[in-house]
Amino acid sequence: MNKNQLFRSTRVRLAFCYATVMGLILSISGLGFYRVVFNAHVVALDSEIESVAGTLHDTLEPKLKKPGKLDSTVQQLFSNISLCENVGVKCIQQKFNNGRHFIGVTNHSNYYVRFFDLSGRLIATAGRYPEGISTVFSNQKWQFLKDSKGEDYHQITVGLHVINNRNTKDWGYIQVGRSLKEFNRYLDSVKLFLALGLPITMGIVAVSSWCLAGLAMRPIYDSYRQIQQFTADAAHELRTPLAATGATVESGLLMPEIEEQEMREILRTLHRQNQRLTTLVADLLMLARLDAQPVTKQQEICCLNDIISDLIEEFEAMAIAAGILLECSLQGNQPLNIVGNSDQLYRLVSNLIINAINYTPKGGFVKVFLNRNDYYAVIKVQDTGIGMVPDEQKRIFDRFYRVSNDRSRSTGGSGLGLAIAQAIVRTHQGSLSVESELGRGSVFTVQLPLNITKVKKARSISLEKLLHRPLRKSE
Ligand code: ADP
Repeated sequence: MNKNQLFRSTRVRLAFCYATVMGLILSISGLGFYRVVFNAHVVALDSEIESVAGTLHDTLEPKLKKPGKLDSTVQQLFSNISLCENVGVKCIQQKFNNGRHFIGVTNHSNYYVRFFDLSGRLIATAGRYPEGISTVFSNQKWQFLKDSKGEDYHQITVGLHVINNRNTKDWGYIQVGRSLKEFNRYLDSVKLFLALGLPITMGIVAVSSWCLAGLAMRPIYDSYRQIQQFTADAAHELRTPLAATGATVESGLLMPEIEEQEMREILRTLHRQNQRLTTLVADLLMLARLDAQPVTKQQEICCLNDIISDLIEEFEAMAIAAGILLECSLQGNQPLNIVGNSDQLYRLVSNLIINAINYTPKGGFVKVFLNRNDYYAVIKVQDTGIGMVPDEQKRIFDRFYRVSNDRSRSTGGSGLGLAIAQAIVRTHQGSLSVESELGRGSVFTVQLPLNITKVKKARSISLEKLLHRPLRKSE
């Protein structure tokens, strides 16, 4: 499997996992939502039926005289009551139009009322009585029933009593039922909404999962591309001195006789290429070490004034040879100390000074400034050199990037100097930036955190070491 396929299949797997998890969450939420809607409606419906049954019960009970008998005063309360004389005989509807049917709920198309005597015989019905509904009595409080058309009803059974003076006798039962047609229609619409909404939402989730997986994969893909590029660049850089060495040795071997002068020339070339290789490998190793170490481990007090003065002295000869004036400006009389790795700090400042000398034409100057603000020590390396356009300024810190290959090669640069400088600054938790103008020069600014408490602590540790050090004979 090539790398592109690997990235693609990983993206597919990521998107699939994300979509599955989201799908499960959405399905469970949908189901939960349906249950909540269902329960809320059942509770509302039951309390409505219970309140209707309670009203009927409270209205009818004082009017009941004999168990199992519905007097005309009671019958007149219903506009459309049907009395059932015998079991199995069709109930005969009595119409009372005296306008006093206060139990209006029985006019409501959703409700029906049934009266049963104590033996469970149907006495009368009222309201919109459903056809084909079971007339077998059950004193279970709540029941679900079906009519001949398959329509659902929810029904409550309440006991009725005859109250004479202080005697209370059982009269029979009243059942109040309500059609669930509206309720079922509403639930069907909720189900339809969920059934249609879920696939549409899943489609959106699938597309967004694909995009999100792509976003998640991008940094990995980018760093993979960078590693690929880095490997190719490193191989290219290593090949150049190796090829030069190979060619020099081959040409030497082809010579029938080699004079001492020629031999020395060959050895000098080999030595030069070997040094180039050694520097390159050392730079690569240093970058690898800096990458593996986010914060520099070996920490000591580093006096930046000393580092800069030493380096100015060291590169004076190089600057003079290039016809450049090299000087420094150190702020104040107090030395500026930071906690860090002095070897790395020497390397950082020397890389900037070497570049400034290399990219400044004869007659120019390079100046190194050391200042401080409240939190940072600030080192500036300024030159009057060739400068850079803004596009190049963004890329010069990339590994192996060189603005002009020819010029860098003539200076022996491999394009790793600024990458190393930036890695060192990063391990010291500082920053490195450039301001440059083409043809006018550049200023590289390094900011390194001062962290006074750290400096004091490190100073007291070294003082303690000094005090506890055994005295040498000469001391
Ligand atoms: P090199 O080894 O090629 O100098 P660096 O990483 O040190 O690599 O620098 C990267 C590129 O940045 C160089 O090739 C050069 O073009 C540009 N550069 C660095 N310093 C300066 C400078 N002071 N003035 C102009 N260009 C510079």
